[in-house]
Amino acid sequence: MWQAEVRVDLDAIRENASRLRSGTGAELMAVVKADGYGHGMVPAARAALDGGAGWLGVCTLDEALTLRRAGITAPVLAWLLAPGLPLHEGVAAGIDLGVASLSQLAEMVEAGRAAGRPARLHLKIDTGLARGGATVADWPALLDAAAKAQADGLVEVVGVWSHFVYADSPGHPTIDRQLAVFHEGIGMAERAGLRPRYRHLANSAATLTRPDTHLDLVRPGLAVYGLSPVAGERYGLRPAMTARARVMLTKRVPAGSGVSYGHTYTTERAANLAVVPLGYADGVPRHASNSGPVQLGGKRRTISGRVCMDQFVLDCGDDPVSAGDEVTLFGDGADGGPTADDWAEAVGTINYEIVTRFGSTRVPRRYDGERP
Ligand SMILES: *Cc1c(COP(=O)(O)O)cnc(C)c1O
Repeated sequence: MWQAEVRVDLDAIRENASRLRSGTGAELMAVVKADGYGHGMVPAARAALDGGAGWLGVCTLDEALTLRRAGITAPVLAWLLAPGLPLHEGVAAGIDLGVASLSQLAEMVEAGRAAGRPARLHLKIDTGLARGGATVADWPALLDAAAKAQADGLVEVVGVWSHFVYADSPGHPTIDRQLAVFHEGIGMAERAGLRPRYRHLANSAATLTRPDTHLDLVRPGLAVYGLSPVAGERYGLRPAMTARARVMLTKRVPAGSGVSYGHTYTTERAANLAVVPLGYADGVPRHASNSGPVQLGGKRRTISGRVCMDQFVLDCGDDPVSAGDEVTLFGDGADGGPTADDWAEAVGTINYEIVTRFGSTRVPRRYDGERP
């Protein structure tokens, strides 16, 4: 018996990866950072590889090493690397590293020396996001230093890459502008004597809407988990995560009863209340107070009053409700129940944040479609 759980349908991840793969002539990197967007990094990675991904993308060195310790041998790129990490462990484990500055490059040269093999690098150019990547002004110096290190056998430049500002708004002028800057950056790399095998900048949105950005490799994350980066579009993807709980306690209260902390909700009529054992410590945003949608007894309902750390309350009116009844917070929406998109809209965030939050440790995560 379970009281709350996050179910992850690995067949959905396989099918989504396969759909993304068949929609492009490029290779597919499934991004599995942040514990696979809350779905479980290793099972999600295996399912995506089964579905046709050839690469995995993560942020941290730890994430990359965790994939290797799980026995995953596919190419892995890690791109969020603060100074002073044991990068030689990554090089020794065959992890590709994202690099955006001369000081990072120097660390990677050292890491290659320590590991006894050249570090495999993807040079990142900032084409407009002003987050990761070398600025256009700093790009030539990075290219020259990388070309020299490669000539000396100290590194191997495998890729050149960048990241979009606003690809989730198809037609936004930043997309064409960034693509043009990226192509200029690639031209400069070639003139510096580099022949990067992988040129990549497409996230989920660009993978789904802009084939001209696919180049050699696409890097979708969100879409692998069946969620759409573009509001109102589904692209035939199937959401893999369902969050649900069982009603813990029911009670009949009179009209005018204040409900939960602060009494921000008051019953209009006598009502059956259902107490649900999930709260903000489990991933339910506190902003879902009086707004989060759930499905109980075949009906959509809205959370009544504040979301607490561990529980919330539903006003079910005169509908019969019993302890043990199933409450779906979000799933694939096939039964008319809410989706992560509905939650994002209700609390003023994005579907990315909803699923990532539910990758918490207290709610057990269970897998459907697991393969040996
Ligand atoms: C997270 C991330 C992605 C994947 O983005 P989605 O919008 O989830 O497809 C791709 N590239 C980089 C650099 C990222 O940080």
